[in-house]
Amino acid sequence: MTQTEDKTLSMGDTPLVPIEKIVSLCKRRGFVYPNSEIYGGVSGIYDFGPLGVELRNNIRRYWWWSMVQTNDNVVGIEGNIITHPRVWEASGHVENFVDRLVDCKNCKRRWRVDHLPAENLEQNRCPACGGELTEPRVFNLMMETYIGVVEGERMKTYLRGEACQNIYLDYDNVLKSSRMQIPFGICQIGKAFRNEVTPGNFLFRQREFEQWDLQFFVHPSQMQQWFDYWKERRFEWYQGIINHKDRIHFRAHGSDELAHYAKQAFDIEYKSILGWQEWEGIHWRQDWDLSRHSQFSGQDLSYTDPETKEKYIPWIVETSGGVDRTFLNLLLDAYEEEPDPSGKEPRTVLRLHPMLAPVKVAVLPLQKNKEELVSTAKSIHKRLQRLMVSQYDDVANIGRRYRRQDEIGTPYCVTVDFQTLEDSTVTVRERDGMTQIRLAIEELPAYLLERVTWQ
Ligand code: ATP
Repeated sequence: MTQTEDKTLSMGDTPLVPIEKIVSLCKRRGFVYPNSEIYGGVSGIYDFGPLGVELRNNIRRYWWWSMVQTNDNVVGIEGNIITHPRVWEASGHVENFVDRLVDCKNCKRRWRVDHLPAENLEQNRCPACGGELTEPRVFNLMMETYIGVVEGERMKTYLRGEACQNIYLDYDNVLKSSRMQIPFGICQIGKAFRNEVTPGNFLFRQREFEQWDLQFFVHPSQMQQWFDYWKERRFEWYQGIINHKDRIHFRAHGSDELAHYAKQAFDIEYKSILGWQEWEGIHWRQDWDLSRHSQFSGQDLSYTDPETKEKYIPWIVETSGGVDRTFLNLLLDAYEEEPDPSGKEPRTVLRLHPMLAPVKVAVLPLQKNKEELVSTAKSIHKRLQRLMVSQYDDVANIGRRYRRQDEIGTPYCVTVDFQTLEDSTVTVRERDGMTQIRLAIEELPAYLLERVTWQ
């Protein structure tokens, strides 16, 4: 199935989901836990549980497949979290990676100056209570660490504040070792660390999080064309994995937000209960990064065109998004409490795209006390397990078991009943429409694979 033709993608509108519902579902069903919870937790740091890690891996793999595996002119790397400290001087992070923070003298809330609405900024008033705000204080977001064991000889460095720096550091090695020629791109998925001054809203703003980046290297004359190309590709990519197509848009950066080298920049924003918020940035980085690293390292990072022999520092189109924000936005987008027509409890359903859902299929014997039903269901489960994430469940009545799977977004349930023992067919129930079809056991693997994998 392609990204765009699945039926989960054509639903009507539903209300914006409160973040607390997602936090509670994540804890209850094993998607996300507060880190170090038994010690009281650490704000802005989370762990991923059994279902969370499956969802996260699927999100990452799908990005990698779309960006690296299916583009001949893009390759991938995995750089280290710790680098030489000079990297962060060259990148400007040591000097400029700061947030300006104000406190409300009345309600004591903290605000990032760049997140204050214009009128509050002008009047120096708290958006929550109208109280007076303090003078801004400046904080550097980089997390410090040390390399070496002997006091006095240890080298101070940083946990990377953004993952993309590794791509500039490895650019020359990739160029020489992979036979790539400009235009080409390098992708990476990796952790980044920031001492955020206002961590919060669950996974939205964390202190340890994961980013995905494409840095696409071009001749300056082709910058606009490639910028437009990747801008559209990335928008389509996000549109392909959400249900609510009207909750995503571009926001162009104003002239006051643009870096001095950037002709333009766009955020892909998603609308949730948090309002319109950045999901991914599409940036015009010009020759800034490679020029700075050339200057600071003393190594010439310019490119010589093999045909024209023209020598230049490549310009860069960057697309930079967050794995964790994708995780959160997908849950916010997929969660629905659907009223039950017979007046019973509403059905909680996660309408995740089947290719991203953490569990693809659940195999359920109709009754637990019938040995033949159980053994047949277990053997189907074992067979499917080699191909996809399958769960076997025989606890509680079949309706409750369907509900349990709906709540974690499992797109298909396979039920083994008495007819199965006669004709080797099973019931396949689909999550969104709750429609059921009868299928031969032999046909199950191909039927499911076609619907739960990307191709
Ligand atoms: P913001 O303005 O929200 O602080 P940013 O513009 O600093 O974000 P970038 O440095 O461009 O963000 O990072 C690229 C992507 O990384 C963002 O679009 C977002 O998806 C993700 N990201 C950034 N900071 C965080 C964070 N603290 N927690 C989770 N994801 C983050």
